[in-house]
Amino acid sequence: MKDEATLRGEKLLERIEALETRLAALERREKERRPGAALGSYRVGYGNDLHRFTDGSSLRLGGVTIPYCHSLLGHSDADALLHAIADAILGGAGLSDIGEFFPDTAEENRGRDSVEILALCVEEAARAGWRVVNLDCVVCAQQPKLGPLKKAMRDRIAAVLDLPPDCVSVKAKTGEHVGPVGRMEAIETFAVALLAPIESDPEKERDDA
Ligand SMILES: [Zn+2]
Repeated sequence: MKDEATLRGEKLLERIEALETRLAALERREKERRPGAALGSYRVGYGNDLHRFTDGSSLRLGGVTIPYCHSLLGHSDADALLHAIADAILGGAGLSDIGEFFPDTAEENRGRDSVEILALCVEEAARAGWRVVNLDCVVCAQQPKLGPLKKAMRDRIAAVLDLPPDCVSVKAKTGEHVGPVGRMEAIETFAVALLAPIESDPEKERDDA
């Protein structure tokens, strides 16, 4: 005859086993939906871009228009920061790069607002099952001085990605007067994005079934 404590212990074990079975089933479903992904897994994406200066009176960086004695040369609006971010997000989601999604030979991309390009890349990542957790970016420019504009760029990017501003970091560096950045020939950008799976809601799925 088992005593009460033993019976309680056995019941507890049964419940733990049932929960483990349920968790394994959830993880299996996640893997089926997105090969390579499991519950709680994260991905990192990396992006880099460079645009040369050309004649003009303003340039676009981080979705912000900056008055300056030159513009950046590009098929779209040449926003090197948003391009690096878009590539980091696509890369993290395992989706190639913006050159493939928005070719510079396509007429519809001429002069295109890169805010729109970034928003579409976020949608592509979401379709693949991924959302952005946070971004860390570096803009390398000898001129113009970007220090006072870092917050405006960060806030704009956070708004486009629907993230709290403290989940986006924009840092500004000079080129130390060497290389294409330091000689004021170009602006170069770097971005790292952390992506998390868009969690399915088991309760909702059960209701939908
Ligand atoms: Zn670019």
